[in-house]
Amino acid sequence: MPASGGPPVLFVGRISESVRVLGPGTRAVVWVQGCPLRCPGCLSPEGLPFEGGEPWAVDALAARLHALPAEVTGVTFSGGEPMAQAAALAALVDRMRAARDWSVMSYSGFTLERLRRGDAGRRELLARLDILVDGPFLAERQRPLLWRGSDNQRIHWLTDRHEPPAHDGSAGLEVEIASGSIAWNGVPPVPGFRENFERALDRDGIHLTIPRRTDVR
Ligand code: SF4
Repeated sequence: MPASGGPPVLFVGRISESVRVLGPGTRAVVWVQGCPLRCPGCLSPEGLPFEGGEPWAVDALAARLHALPAEVTGVTFSGGEPMAQAAALAALVDRMRAARDWSVMSYSGFTLERLRRGDAGRRELLARLDILVDGPFLAERQRPLLWRGSDNQRIHWLTDRHEPPAHDGSAGLEVEIASGSIAWNGVPPVPGFRENFERALDRDGIHLTIPRRTDVR
């Protein structure tokens, strides 16, 4: 939050505008910047540092998301750790839902039980979520699961907006290609996917929009 007491600000690593592999239907994904945890083998190391990220006033970010096509009916918060910016995300959800009834999902490296004992901002964001995927990524328990990386992570259906799918299998990955660069979305179903993918791109001289795993810690 700005010291002036003005509108909340979010620090965002990137925004994906149309994703089908991180929650029900077609969703925008806001990748927040910064995570206090350090899961060995973290699948999003570029989101770990709290330094960096682009500052977004929540009103401006809500307007950007509201301008997306109507087929984008949900937003997913990933990162980084969304609960590290929970109060600002709760404010974002309120701005978004003032315009239309968005489905809202979030990831967190913290468990639901711990978040429920957390500060007011975390409880405010929890109260606005339709779906929470909780728990740290544990590389030794990596499995091809729906929207999760390891089998300790749980999907909590916090409202009745969505029906839990019958099949708990990997939703797969999507690749975004734009003007000579590539980014990818989704939870890799197999160990080593990211490293192998980046090596293959390197061999072909293709630029990856997301920092390479070896570039961030
Ligand atoms: S909580 Fe998520 S972003 Fe944070 S270290 Fe663990 S896997 Fe990485």
